[in-house]
Amino acid sequence: MQAALGTALLSGGLYVLLAFNHQFMVMPANHRMLSENTYWFAVWYATVFLAYSPRRAPVLAGSVLGAATLIAVWHLIFTVPATSRPDIIGAVVQFLLTGGVLILLQATFGVQRAMLLASRSSALRDVLTGIANRRAAEEHLRALSSQGTAYRVVLFDLDHFKQINDTYGHATGDLVLRGVARLTQATLPTGGLVARWGGEEFLVVLPMLGDAEITKILNDVRNEFCQQRYGEVLGVTASFGVATATALDHPDEVVARADKAMYSAKQQGRNDICIAKPPC
Ligand code: GH3
Ligand code: MG
Ligand code: MG
Repeated sequence: MQAALGTALLSGGLYVLLAFNHQFMVMPANHRMLSENTYWFAVWYATVFLAYSPRRAPVLAGSVLGAATLIAVWHLIFTVPATSRPDIIGAVVQFLLTGGVLILLQATFGVQRAMLLASRSSALRDVLTGIANRRAAEEHLRALSSQGTAYRVVLFDLDHFKQINDTYGHATGDLVLRGVARLTQATLPTGGLVARWGGEEFLVVLPMLGDAEITKILNDVRNEFCQQRYGEVLGVTASFGVATATALDHPDEVVARADKAMYSAKQQGRNDICIAKPPC
């Protein structure tokens, strides 16, 4: 698809340049303006900026503008009759200037758009771990719920994390959080979302898997947590609560059920998985 669009655009660029060149070759001696086909340059520039990244688009559009400049200069020197040259120079200057301004404007908008997208993406990242943050998770849950998709939510909380901070220091605690985020992301099946829900609590959104599959995945995650070394800390445990979202559920209710199940896992001695009963 991308290749087809690229080929179509490059062919379009070549076509407007050939047509531009052709008009000089067939220009009557008394002609004093450029032909209507030069308007298509503007359309081509706009399409290039829609189709390509803010880095590539100015290069491509600039190349076509440069080629058009060379064609115009060559014809003004060698083929345009002296009588109509001043008028054609005026028309060419207008044409090239408007092209340049159009490219400049679009390049500026492109950079602003890229900056906006970057700031939006950083607003959805957790600064410490680099994974999705709570806001991103909430948006994801809202999107799933508005599509009426059934999904599963896992909320887990590291056990006795305060002790790690107290014993080894806050920096080691941070190291544990980064390690846990990385391991969870690496162990989950594709299509799952891991987010830092807050403090040492993480939220995982998974497709509609059965209890046995979820339990197996979470046991793999628990094994990874246990076997990993995080600076001075060798292995951590966590308590997991699992809930199911049906098509009619509000995301807050699903998370509340997962939270309740996680709390049960804590109360039952931690380092465990509790699955919430589906709502009646
Ligand atoms: P429990 O097993 O009941 O969950 O006990 P806990 O010690 O894990 O839970 P508690 O709520 O008592 O302590 C959580 C600690 O997590 C306290 C807080 O200072 C620490 N914490 C929260 N955010 C961060 C963080 O970004 N970095 C570090 N290093 N610690 C954090
Ligand atoms: Mg905890
Ligand atoms: Mg907690």
